[in-house]
Amino acid sequence: MHGSLQAIVVGAGAAGLGCALALARAGARVRVVAAGAPRASLAAAGMLGPISEAALEPNGAHPLGVDLGLEGLDRWGAMAPALAIPLRRGCRLLHRPETLARAAALAERAGWRPIADAGSLRLQEEAVLEAPAAAARLIRAAAAAGAQRVQAQALAPLWREDRVIGVLIEGGEALEADFVVLAPGHGRSTVWAEAAPALRALTPARGCIVAVEQAPAGDPPVLRTPEVYLAAQPGGRLLAGASMEFGVDDAQPDPTIAARLHAAAVARRPDLEALPWRAHAGVRAMSPDWAPLLGPAGAPGLFLAAGMGRNGWLLSLLAGEIISAYVFEQPIAPLYAAFSPDRLRPS
Ligand SMILES: Cc1cc2nc3c(=O)[nH]c(=O)nc-3n(C[C@H](O)[C@H](O)[C@H](O)COP(=O)(O)OP(=O)(O)OC[C@H]3O[C@@H](n4cnc5c(N)ncnc54)[C@H](O)[C@@H]3O)c2cc1C
Repeated sequence: MHGSLQAIVVGAGAAGLGCALALARAGARVRVVAAGAPRASLAAAGMLGPISEAALEPNGAHPLGVDLGLEGLDRWGAMAPALAIPLRRGCRLLHRPETLARAAALAERAGWRPIADAGSLRLQEEAVLEAPAAAARLIRAAAAAGAQRVQAQALAPLWREDRVIGVLIEGGEALEADFVVLAPGHGRSTVWAEAAPALRALTPARGCIVAVEQAPAGDPPVLRTPEVYLAAQPGGRLLAGASMEFGVDDAQPDPTIAARLHAAAVARRPDLEALPWRAHAGVRAMSPDWAPLLGPAGAPGLFLAAGMGRNGWLLSLLAGEIISAYVFEQPIAPLYAAFSPDRLRPS
């Protein structure tokens, strides 16, 4: 136990909650400073799909992203039952032959047994969770481990010489801690970028997604096609997504995009047509190599769990474990060190 160590986590989305839970369970006294709803995290489809995501990533994506994603999925497999977060397993990729070939090769390398059938690939190991329910469970688990919530905007880092020793929150209060973990989603004000220069490399990408209520689950629960993915949530909704609108950082869904996603979903599943649906959106923080920034931010005392991109839920628990290892000065595995924010710091 490390009972005397105090940590502040800024942000309570998938990244901040993963960090708060891991730090509190490791024995830190944790305060989570969060303002507003974590819209990206609540909008998400909750797919835990390291292989299908890696197969769809563009050239220039981080070469180890798939390995990190596989570990992220392992953490969910190990921890979800105790957190009472239901996972549904299985994904069918119905994509171009080159995407399927890439996914099959990655899956085989991971020791999975992908099943090719009728121009598609089944990945039984991939999973899906219901993001809002998972967030609620993580909040409860972090609170049970002692984490406290402070509902406020963290306006700026609190400095002592060149070290970050806490945060200034709205109202002028200064909260001190031994370490601050910044998990701001797409929030990237210049005040924070001075202490965490890699934040400047992040680009917002709005994701519009359509929720169909009371939809019968598909088999397997996740279907991914070039036009749309369908993710059947453990709670009964079906999510059809999602757009990648680079440079857009407001979370209002675009009605034209929503209608296109709904039409693509109905084309795949005509039984959805008669069901009520609505659109929502969230803003992802994308890094240039589509991989997260996990580790020392630059200024001593400050860590980043940012740039979670399209995989913030997949990586949530693992991100917490990695940040906790940094905070407690434990050895950092080479795979994790490869995602340090250092790689994106402007020279
Ligand atoms: C449509 C869509 C579908 C997605 N589908 C998936 C999926 O299937 N699987 C998957 O793994 N990921 C998915 N994602 C990505 C995933 O949602 C994100 O990567 C993840 O939610 C990011 O979490 P976060 O905690 O970094 O950010 P957020 O969820 O944005 O949370 C950050 C929080 O920090 C708060 N904050 C920021 N700055 C401050 C401050 N200074 N003071 C106080 N609070 C602050 C914000 O208000 C916000 O509440 C999807 C995203 C979208 C938009």
